[in-house]
Amino acid sequence: METTPKLRHTMKYPLMNKRFTKNDAGFTCQHCGHIVKPLLSSSRDHCTNCLYSLHVDINPGDRANDCHGLLVPIGITLNSKKGTVINYHCDTCGAYHNNKAAPDDNYDTILELSQNPLKHFFSDGQK
Ligand SMILES: [Zn+2]
Ligand SMILES: [Zn+2]
Repeated sequence: METTPKLRHTMKYPLMNKRFTKNDAGFTCQHCGHIVKPLLSSSRDHCTNCLYSLHVDINPGDRANDCHGLLVPIGITLNSKKGTVINYHCDTCGAYHNNKAAPDDNYDTILELSQNPLKHFFSDGQK
């Protein structure tokens, strides 16, 4: 909560490749009020019911982003390595973000999202 911006600049990660911090906790969804249980195998980063997330990570699980905006799910992409990936757009800062789908995510919501035309997503972000 009280991260000092100065301190964050001195925190250089030793590895340049992506960093995965285990930060697994349950939470109450700020969008639909669903109580989300911790995901034991990985970091829980989005609501299993409506798939909304919060813009709190720079790298998965690090909670190093101080935006804290609502990440709105806008689409689904299938990644050969990661599997189902949910595409987000931050309601607060406008950034785009991806999260890996969890095994217990609401499959109907994922299906619904996967039918979203991603054209909208790309034309919005790269004008
Ligand atoms: Zn939710
Ligand atoms: Zn944001």
